[in-house]
Amino acid sequence: MTSPVELIVRKRDGGKLTPAEIGELVQGYLAGTIADYQMSAWLMAALLRGLDETETTALTQAMLRSGKTLRLGSVRKKKIDKHSTGGVGDKISLCLAPLVAACGIASPMIAGRGLGHTGGTLDKLEAIPGYRVALEPRAFERVLRDAGASIIGQSAAIAPADRRLYALRDVTGTVESTPLIVASILSKKLAAGSDGLVLDVKAGRGAFMPDRARARELARALVRTARRAGLPTVALITDMSVPIGRTIGNALETREAIEVLCGAGPGDTRELTIVLGVEMLRLAGRARSPAEARRLLERALDDGSALERFRRMVRAHGGDARAVDDPKRLPHAKVRVPLFAKKSGVLTDIDALELGLVSVALGAGRTRADQKVDPGAGIELCHTLGERVERGAPLAFLMAARRSLIDAVAERARRAFVLGSRPPPHRPLVLERIG
Ligand code: URA
Repeated sequence: MTSPVELIVRKRDGGKLTPAEIGELVQGYLAGTIADYQMSAWLMAALLRGLDETETTALTQAMLRSGKTLRLGSVRKKKIDKHSTGGVGDKISLCLAPLVAACGIASPMIAGRGLGHTGGTLDKLEAIPGYRVALEPRAFERVLRDAGASIIGQSAAIAPADRRLYALRDVTGTVESTPLIVASILSKKLAAGSDGLVLDVKAGRGAFMPDRARARELARALVRTARRAGLPTVALITDMSVPIGRTIGNALETREAIEVLCGAGPGDTRELTIVLGVEMLRLAGRARSPAEARRLLERALDDGSALERFRRMVRAHGGDARAVDDPKRLPHAKVRVPLFAKKSGVLTDIDALELGLVSVALGAGRTRADQKVDPGAGIELCHTLGERVERGAPLAFLMAARRSLIDAVAERARRAFVLGSRPPPHRPLVLERIG
């Protein structure tokens, strides 16, 4: 067995570790024979020197082996998962899981909570009174069998090495490393026991990886490593420079997702749901062409079958399904204040990062993993890009538990809206497909 110091020094000097050595490193860390400071040093060396494909695969597998892989054998349908690298106003999983279930595939998703300026799917689902995100593996399997869709949180049994390593990376400046991100995401995705994976890799100001070239590098590495592990995977790189849809904040986004499932909702939220759904149906072999997949998905949104799947999923998770048909039952903020435009013009830009940070300050997100979120807090946008706004008209509504929270961020929120003289150029939602 190689000593931890040797493994650190070799990576520091640009050398490579064997799969067995990477396995020892992860096991040693979990067993306590490798200290936090040693693992931190190795992570920093890996961030600066990189990991090659074999090392990335070995790290992914070692983290996967640290926990259980869910067995979903009784779910007879093709099981396709979707993962987003995180964005502002990204409520797509809530729409997508029941939608593809209505089209005949199963959608097991292990989702996360909001951290930093990006929101989390679990917080949005928990805005539905009673919804439980912690299900035992058996219950998860049963819900998938009955509703076709289930979205749960990562339990202690799934890739525990990732939990420990992520917490360490978070406080040692070692999050922004492509191979470390790849191993972290895929160890959890491989544990979910699905037959295919669609990745929504965000690029642009509001994304975790704003730079397009880095987002591409991440998407390629994710697809390559997932396939090496035997999981058919496709990635779309999508624009995250403006918020998705009209809402940012947990209950607000859940309401918007329900609107999309009712065949309505903002055009970009619906379209992003459909383009990702097309990839999921194609991976599952449910459609011969993208056009056929799109037809199936549009029909399920418009005829109520996707909404019915959502009702079933919510009920099976202990949630109040009446909130699906009457979103007034979702939590509301105590205070709702309009944000007025100070001049007239055409809306040319909305800064997703700034609004993500504002929504956190309003109570919709967290800056530490142990904080609670306010389900009613957030931002409702009044216009989409290219629309004309008159001076004195509302740009948005800010929602929080107290007026003081809103007053503290109102100016910052106003600066996120750029009014110009001409409509902005069209921004495609999907920037690239890697598959
Ligand atoms: N999301 C993850 O799950 N892991 C990372 O390392 C980054 C984003």
